[in-house]
Amino acid sequence: MIFATFSAKELPRLFDLLAANTVVGPVKKGTDSAGRPLYDFDVVYRFQDLRLDYPATIHSAKRHFLPHRESLCTFTMQGNDWEKQVDYNIYKPVVFFGLHACDINALNKLDKVLTAPPYPNPYYTAKRRNMFIIGQDCQPQPQCFCRSMGTDTALRGFDLFLTDLGDRYFAEILSATAYQFLRKIATRPPTVKDHDRYKEVVAERNRRFTTTVDTSDLTKLLDLEFESPAWQQWGDKCLSCGTCANVCPTCYCYGVEETVDLDLTGAAKTKYLYSCNLIDFAEVAGGHNFRPQTATRLKYRYYHKHRGFVEAYEEPLCVGCGRCGEACLAGITVPAVLASVRARGA
Ligand code: SF4
Ligand code: SF4
Repeated sequence: MIFATFSAKELPRLFDLLAANTVVGPVKKGTDSAGRPLYDFDVVYRFQDLRLDYPATIHSAKRHFLPHRESLCTFTMQGNDWEKQVDYNIYKPVVFFGLHACDINALNKLDKVLTAPPYPNPYYTAKRRNMFIIGQDCQPQPQCFCRSMGTDTALRGFDLFLTDLGDRYFAEILSATAYQFLRKIATRPPTVKDHDRYKEVVAERNRRFTTTVDTSDLTKLLDLEFESPAWQQWGDKCLSCGTCANVCPTCYCYGVEETVDLDLTGAAKTKYLYSCNLIDFAEVAGGHNFRPQTATRLKYRYYHKHRGFVEAYEEPLCVGCGRCGEACLAGITVPAVLASVRARGA
């Protein structure tokens, strides 16, 4: 890792250098019913529209590399001939400006599933290779429990990571591309004073985390508590709406839809993200549903994230961003669910 510092005044220049590409970053998106500002990731054209001081976003940046609907291929048909068209979108580099550590770690987790054997996803992989990621230190929110999940710091999966030291930025440089871009603005090697200030800022941020989840022996606990009454209690509250998966940076389950034009001249195969909480998630041909009960579907979402994924990849599929709990109309949050399973009842 190489470190550098640069004046806050240089950041707009860095943005302008990168803006020849599509830039996606946090922007303000209206207000909630209490008048509080809402933020989300969107395409940004001007530096002044970026809100790098954002507390949290409603959605993760997922829709920009794992869109809700995505064409896998289309077909054109003429008589007995047909042709298949595939577009991996590899010609569009995208700069992600201002991802927090949790969202970078979410990408690292998705990479394990979607870029590696046995079933690498060429659409995701093509976009992932064309991403330039600038991370940004966060401001802990009441719903954040990333420290419990070990995802409050990103050690890989970004090109550049910035920590705001007030009048200047402390930059962690991980890629040659980032290094080359930084050569085009005024930077300097950090001094001992910069190191000390960086450590102060990080320590102050760490003090502001308030929510924790006891993850000790969690996989074993889940094995033991498979029949816990807590699952039914939470299942009774759940609306099976799928919102939690929609806002989650690590949910990647999907369905595939095939359509054929009525005049038989064209067809399309489209992938769309799905949620394991939706009622027909485990329905198969013939109409049998392996998980008809809401409580079972909710339980399996937790078992995938905190049990099955750990077995496969030695880490949970949750970064503790708290978005699912914030978005859930039934008030179901990961810390509350896991605490109740530990306590054998909600
Ligand atoms: S847990 Fe909440 S957000 Fe998720 S499906 Fe149930 S009601 Fe919807
Ligand atoms: S399960 Fe909830 S807290 Fe965990 S990564 Fe997904 S949205 Fe964030």
